[in-house]
Amino acid sequence: MIEVGVNGYGTIGKRVADAVDSQPDMELVGVAKTKPNFEAHTAVERGYDMYAAIPERAPLFSEDGIEIAGVVDELVAAADVVVDCTPSGIGAENKSLYESHDTPAIFQGGESADIADVSFNARANFDEAVGARYTRVVSCNTTGLSRIVAPLQEEYGVEKVRATLVRRGGDPAQNSRGPINDILPNPIGIPSHHGPDVQTIFPDLSIDTLGLKVPATLMHVHSLNVTLESDVTAAHVRQLLEDENRVYVIPEGLGIDGAGKLKDFALDAGRPRGDLWENCVWGESIAVEGRDMYLFQAIHQESDVIPENVDAIRAMLDVADKRESMRRTDKHVGIGV
Ligand code: NAD
Repeated sequence: MIEVGVNGYGTIGKRVADAVDSQPDMELVGVAKTKPNFEAHTAVERGYDMYAAIPERAPLFSEDGIEIAGVVDELVAAADVVVDCTPSGIGAENKSLYESHDTPAIFQGGESADIADVSFNARANFDEAVGARYTRVVSCNTTGLSRIVAPLQEEYGVEKVRATLVRRGGDPAQNSRGPINDILPNPIGIPSHHGPDVQTIFPDLSIDTLGLKVPATLMHVHSLNVTLESDVTAAHVRQLLEDENRVYVIPEGLGIDGAGKLKDFALDAGRPRGDLWENCVWGESIAVEGRDMYLFQAIHQESDVIPENVDAIRAMLDVADKRESMRRTDKHVGIGV
């Protein structure tokens, strides 16, 4: 049984905790939080042991009726691996804590790539994380792009990727983010930083990315053009993507014409928090002109990296190969059903 600690219990951390808890070969030792807010109470109701992320704040938890199991040092000491889900930059500050306990750790995409031995996407480079002490699961957008590039590269070869990322302004709970009523080239400089992030997974890939931010919280939407190395048909590309468990090709006829209906679809299906762990590719958008392939996909920023964190745990501890790990993760999280 792999003992897993989760440090940082916000948007990503609470989902990672649930995903770990669902895996028969993993046990959630507990979660570390800075304050006893509503998420702390929900964690306790789910039966998760609570650790104070900032030891001086431990009394706040008992004052709020939450019995803590200890402080974050104890969580790190007890865990075989820690998944750090703290805000960008805090993971880097936490690294010395993990080093002091000789506990392997997984960081998130908000950290810079040099925090870890390897940047990770299960579909693309699982084997590179085997035995690694520190791994960074790449961002939601990079995960979404990597899941498309990997099969295209294997099947046809990729000459060039051009992607325009229409990015959500913030997550639903992030009421300080924006824009509220604007459309922002973001960053204005071209290309954006996303391409180099994808190159942490595919070092030899030729990729240019452009970003915009819009007043939406639901999902990101990518407009993708990939120049392939061989002639293809749209039908063949579609079949290739339909064979990927972490890509959902939206069938024509369902009436899903945007991110709003996708989220409704997930909620109606009873998915926890309305999560869409898979890339959502509009089937009818898959088009081919010569060697140029085009498509639109929506990426649920809050959840697409969750299965990748679970697979990173197995890769680092070398307890299952890529195929078996992804199969187990998908089965127990409920991906592709
Ligand atoms: P979040 O703000 O929702 O959650 C972070 C949590 O960590 C909060 O509960 C915060 O109180 C807590 N925290 C702050 N300082 C801490 C500390 N010292 N110790 C322990 N906990 C601490 O952030 P998030 O959206 O979950 O992002 C976490 C990481 O995941 C970032 O690197 C981010 O870039 C990355 N990421 C976020 C998204 C997304 O869309 N939300 C997608 C992919 C990757």
